[in-house]
Amino acid sequence: MSQLKYCQGPKCHTYDTKDRKRGPKDNKRNETRRRSRMYYGKGNFCSLGCYNDWAEVFSDRAIDHFGRVTQPRVLTKDNAWTKRYDWHSREDGGYQHYVYNHLTDERIPLTEEQYNNDDTIITDGQLTTREFYTPTI
Ligand SMILES: [Zn+2]
Repeated sequence: MSQLKYCQGPKCHTYDTKDRKRGPKDNKRNETRRRSRMYYGKGNFCSLGCYNDWAEVFSDRAIDHFGRVTQPRVLTKDNAWTKRYDWHSREDGGYQHYVYNHLTDERIPLTEEQYNNDDTIITDGQLTTREFYTPTI
């Protein structure tokens, strides 16, 4: 069985739901939710509400700690590459895989294997090589 962990929402215990209630009738209390798996904020929060509560309290401190964006990040034709595929686009019913530059609309075909396995083709949006094996269609 996987480890139980607590929701990191600072106000989780203040939301009045049945599953948060603990203790005997004369000493009832609500507790932070504890679960083996949570689906928000990389598995740290039981709900979007708790995720937002955390962001409200801690966002400024977290951003200042890890580095605030103080000038625009820029996407140019040099870092605008992504891997894509078109469904059933080949004559044999297979998918056509390719790298695509979404500023220039340039497409370069890839094999399915390159698409699935080779993460060295694109690094941070930049194409590291233009020498691809051209798939037989
Ligand atoms: Zn919570």
